[in-house]
Amino acid sequence: MSRLLILGGTQDARALASALADQGHDLTYSLAGATQDPRVPDGVHMRRGGFGGVDGLVGWCLLNDVRALIDATHPFAARMSRNAVKAALMLNLPCLRLEREIWRAEPGDAWTLYARLDDMVLSLADMSGRRVLLAIGRQDVFRFVPLKQHHFLVRSVEPPPRYPPDSQALLARGPFSPEDEEALLRDQGVDLVIAKNAGGQSGYSKLQAARTLGREVWLLEPPALPPTSLAASRDQALAWVAQL
Ligand code: NAP
Repeated sequence: MSRLLILGGTQDARALASALADQGHDLTYSLAGATQDPRVPDGVHMRRGGFGGVDGLVGWCLLNDVRALIDATHPFAARMSRNAVKAALMLNLPCLRLEREIWRAEPGDAWTLYARLDDMVLSLADMSGRRVLLAIGRQDVFRFVPLKQHHFLVRSVEPPPRYPPDSQALLARGPFSPEDEEALLRDQGVDLVIAKNAGGQSGYSKLQAARTLGREVWLLEPPALPPTSLAASRDQALAWVAQL
């Protein structure tokens, strides 16, 4: 019987689930099921796959006697985050979102912020011969397929279904050190880094490397999410659970 449901899929989610399990909480860690070989915290009960929308999530929570929901999904997993808030409202359950602060430009950064990936594609369509590190995960890589004139170094944990015509696949799972990211950008002659502004530590090294080397960065801004209780850190999330 589960009491806490943690919607996961990030390193922060795993770490929080581990910490809660260590404290003896009864929890289920949920993954979308997209990754073939997911990392799961030791000793934590895991489930995989979508719930079937809000109604499915509500049903699952009722069936499993969930007492509180923690949304620790990636900041760009907006559908799941919206469903979590809706389901919690319908069930009158406490709901917490672990929300990292997004990255902010510092002196030396050459960032352009975009609200939509398609606008990045349009901007690239007007350019020629860029060497791009495309580090946006695998789901949206297909949007860059029409761009024949650029070389893409496409980094993802698992391969996307389609690559742009002039691509080099780089299958790797972070975190990466700033030194390794710097070597990658330099060795591959990358002049543009494209990433999601997801905040947190693990993805930040590529931005530090781009700053050091004076390389351009285009960042996709995170989607707006509905209001709910927020925790900015694992400790804040643990404190929230403690007062339930
Ligand atoms: P999404 O668009 O918000 O979710 C699509 C659907 O996948 C949801 O409606 C839900 O299906 C299912 N789902 C998502 N997260 C789930 C979870 N933790 N447990 C059970 N079902 C889940 O999410 P996404 O962008 O496809 O991301 C999928 C997963 O990958 C998330 O767990 C996220 O944390 C992780 N991730 C995403 C990104 C990213 O850039 N988007 C990056 C790193 C990791 P139902 O409606 O059927 O319940």
